[in-house]
Amino acid sequence: MPPLPSNLAMVPFVSVEHMMGLVHHIGIERLLQDLAAEIESDFKRWESFDKTPRVASHSPVGVIELMPTSDGEMYGFKYVNGHPKNTKEGLQTVTAFGLLSDVDTGYPKLLTEMTLLTALRTAATSAMAAKHLAPEGANCMAMIGNGAQAEFQCLAFKAVCGIGTVRLYDIDPVATEKAARNLADRGLTVVSCKSSEEAMEGAEIITTCTADKQYATILTDNMVGPGVHINAIGGDCPGKTELHRDILLRSDIFVEYPPQTLIEGEIQQLEKGHPTTELWQVITGRQEGRKDARQITLFDSVGFAIEDFSALRYIHRAIQGTGFYADLDLLADPDDPRDLFGMLTRAKG
Ligand code: NAD
Repeated sequence: MPPLPSNLAMVPFVSVEHMMGLVHHIGIERLLQDLAAEIESDFKRWESFDKTPRVASHSPVGVIELMPTSDGEMYGFKYVNGHPKNTKEGLQTVTAFGLLSDVDTGYPKLLTEMTLLTALRTAATSAMAAKHLAPEGANCMAMIGNGAQAEFQCLAFKAVCGIGTVRLYDIDPVATEKAARNLADRGLTVVSCKSSEEAMEGAEIITTCTADKQYATILTDNMVGPGVHINAIGGDCPGKTELHRDILLRSDIFVEYPPQTLIEGEIQQLEKGHPTTELWQVITGRQEGRKDARQITLFDSVGFAIEDFSALRYIHRAIQGTGFYADLDLLADPDDPRDLFGMLTRAKG
């Protein structure tokens, strides 16, 4: 197995093939646990990061976003899209790639696929949040929206929170069949349901992970009983939400980075100034998470750059001493750093 390149101009590149190999090598549940711990440790040092809402370019059919952050030592960004119409055309709703670089030199340290890694880090973040917010001993989760993210969410909640049963629902029964098939023999009790209401029967955790470029109402107020934890993943763009506003008014709402969530999250439906709690403050013990058994907690997840940064750093470490990357000739590296033109000239024939 080759060590990481000593030549700084060669950048380790993790392809989709490599990422799949690495996930199987580590084991998906162990990797989800590792990622949740990595993200949690970065949330604990939240104040050391540069933070900005992601830079979004919207079109009538989707969005393309850049998500940068730095802790002063490393810099990372992710390119990610969200196109709900894509699945009808045989394409993914979400695809991504990302880069990690060294702040000291500005040189990239890692270029990687992030479509799989986004599903893994989103699931790890959700489960990490639920560890702090869900009712104690929660064993059953409703999984509403059974698309690309769904199985990752279910396995992260099993690995990190000890969930034993998942109740699946999607408006498209083919998606539910697919998720149930993929989750068979994974140590979970999997129940396929015919409505959101049925999926939520007995569930202490409700995950909504649907894709629609509009204000959708996946859950109405009467469907949500006291004491549950809602993990709302799918509402992550201006004009794209999943929950009825009345649910928000009954919930204690936890967010990643308020300036971004205000633009993209479920809370865009509320008046400015509505109280929310930043998740990192719960993780560091500065704010309370769940206070009592009847409280409805809501993680209004949109996905934040620090989660991608943690995932990039984890992958950079995990590929050391393995073959799960290729050396990419990404950077010009003239012998004399000022003789870029000479390098070009010498390369001719
Ligand atoms: P996907 O298109 O693969 O799956 C979405 C599923 O939702 C589809 O199977 C669709 O049939 C189903 N659906 C749509 N409307 C529904 C309804 N009313 N009731 C039940 N099911 C319904 O998309 P995906 O990759 O799984 O992503 C899901 C959502 O999560 C997207 O909106 C995406 O932008 C978002 N997302 C958020 C984060 C985050 O960090 N918060 C990260 C990744 C993706």
